[in-house]
Formats: sequence, C-alpha cells, structure tokens
Amino acid sequence: MPKLKLALYWAASCGGCDVAVLDINEKILDVAALADIVLWPIAMDFKYHHVEAMDDKSIDVCLFNGAVRNSEQEEIAKLLRAKSKIMVAFGACACFGGIPALAYVEAPTNDNPERTFPQTQTKVKEGELELPEFFDTVHALNQVVGVEYYLPGCPPPVELILKVVDALATGQLPPVGSVIASDKALCDECLRTKEEKRITKIYRPHQIIPDPQRCFLEQGLICLGPATRGGCGQRCIKANMPCRGCFGPPPGVVDQGAKMLSAVASIYDVSDEEGIIRMVEEIVDPAGTFYRFAMSTSLLERKRT
Ligand code: SF4
Ligand code: SF4
Ligand code: SF4
Repeated sequence: MPKLKLALYWAASCGGCDVAVLDINEKILDVAALADIVLWPIAMDFKYHHVEAMDDKSIDVCLFNGAVRNSEQEEIAKLLRAKSKIMVAFGACACFGGIPALAYVEAPTNDNPERTFPQTQTKVKEGELELPEFFDTVHALNQVVGVEYYLPGCPPPVELILKVVDALATGQLPPVGSVIASDKALCDECLRTKEEKRITKIYRPHQIIPDPQRCFLEQGLICLGPATRGGCGQRCIKANMPCRGCFGPPPGVVDQGAKMLSAVASIYDVSDEEGIIRMVEEIVDPAGTFYRFAMSTSLLERKRT
C-alpha cells in the first residue's frame, strides 16, 4: 500500500495537541511507516506555498488542531480542506472552539481596560507591518470548512489517537461525521457512588479535598460529567478532579453549558429566591465553568452579540 500523505496543522492552539501526537511514543514509528508528513509547522519547516503547490485532494488526512480566530487560520483551513481528502477536527479547540473561545474582553483573567486589540496595519519607521485580522468570534473548524471526523479532548488521549492511526492503517474508517469517543455521557462510565443527595453549597476545586469515592456533584463541586461525552478514560475523575467538559456534549445534547446548568439546578436545594441568588453567586465565572470548551458550538456561540 502506498504511504498516506498526512498533514498536521495548529491554528488557535496551545501546542498541547501537537505534543499529544508525540505522546504516542514508539507508535510514532508506526505513523512514520504508514504516512509521509507533508506539513507539520510545530516540527518541520514547510511553507504555505509548498501546500498551495499541491494538487487538490492530494493530502490523505489532515489533523487540524486549534480553533479559527483570525483570517490567516481561516485561509489555511480552507487551503487544507481543498488539498485534503479527510479533515479531522483534532482536540477540543478544533471540535468546539475550546479555551480560545473564552477570549472575551470581560473574562476574569483578562486585563484590558483600554480595549486594545491587534491592528491589521501598523506603521513603524521601517515601513508598514501587517497582521492577520482577528475575528470578533472564535470558530470551531466545522464552522469554517467541512470536517469528516472529530477527535475531542484537551488534548485527545493517546488511546484515541492510536485508534485513528489504526483505522487509517486498516482502512476501516467509521462513518463520516463520527466522533472518535464513546456514545455515552461520562456519568454513565463513572464508578463513583451516587446517593441522589441534594446540595446546599457549591465549592470551587481549591476549597475542599473531595472524597475520592463519591460523586463530585453531590459533594458540591461542579463536575461536567452529566453534560460531557465519555471516552477519555475518566482522566480527571481518576485524579480526583471534577470533569471540565473537554470531550464536549454527549450525543443528543446541543448545548453543553445549558445541559450542565440544568443538572446543577436540579441538584441544588433551593426553596426561595434568596437560595437562587446564593446559588448564582457561588458559581464564579459561569461562562468559563459551563462553556469552557464548547462556547463556539453552543447556542450562545459567544458571550455577547
Ligand atoms: S484542545 Fe487543549 S491541548 Fe489541544 S490546542 Fe486546544 S487547549 Fe491546547
Ligand atoms: S457528575 Fe462527575 S463524579 Fe458524578 S457521576 Fe458524573 S462524572 Fe462521576
Ligand atoms: S474527565 Fe472531563 S475534562 Fe477530564 S479528560 Fe475527561 S472529558 Fe476531559
């Protein structure tokens, strides 16, 4: 079988998804035996004009990580779409917008009172500098180009990356549109004890040491398990940290944050208006809590319009 042509690209990304590819350790040799890498900006010095010179659909698979938040990333996403037979949205940022989609001016971690934004043209004494245009909304990959497969996670776990590599090696690809993960919610895979207790206070993770056997939600910690697709191997749960939702919504759920809000509201013991106000005040940074990874693909799409 001729070697596959493989491209890996990062857009609005932290680099963690590229590191995750290297985390497959010696299996990277299997990838090297299976595929010639034709683009991988983090690791190899290819230029965009090398990609432009390729025939359309001459790349077999493109693993695209990161969200699309500026005009350069949009242009490269469209270029790679034209050149690739299969586009894989690799990681939470490409699948749902991820952390970059929380880049709004009023974010609690943002200090920008002058509302200073990157300009496309800047005059300096040496001449004019040009930067890509920053969009006012961060996009998931499928909001810009067509995508065949989704590999969620921040970053995707090694086991699922290997599953994709095996599928490519054997030609046994799942139906187009598949999410390479579980078809259940994370709660359905979680073995923590659930007593269906109601809670009277919401804690932040640094405020208590949780019981490692009991459901986080029933201990007052917001765990996005009810609103998150399973398949990650319960990475955070096993480390005694609540799930933050990096696998995105489970099948049948359109808006991960709304689903989680409804789960919290159903477990919080409120009997009057004061209780509702207390519950809302205890949820610090609701956008970052309920939409940490899936703001772009939510019904809200962004914090403000
Ligand atoms: S999904 Fe996570 S690891 Fe991957 S680029 Fe986004 S923030 Fe980084
Ligand atoms: S809410 Fe979290 S801890 Fe509780 S069952 Fe679901 S995944 Fe497990
Ligand atoms: S437990 Fe949640 S946040 Fe942690 S890896 Fe799994 S899906 Fe992602």
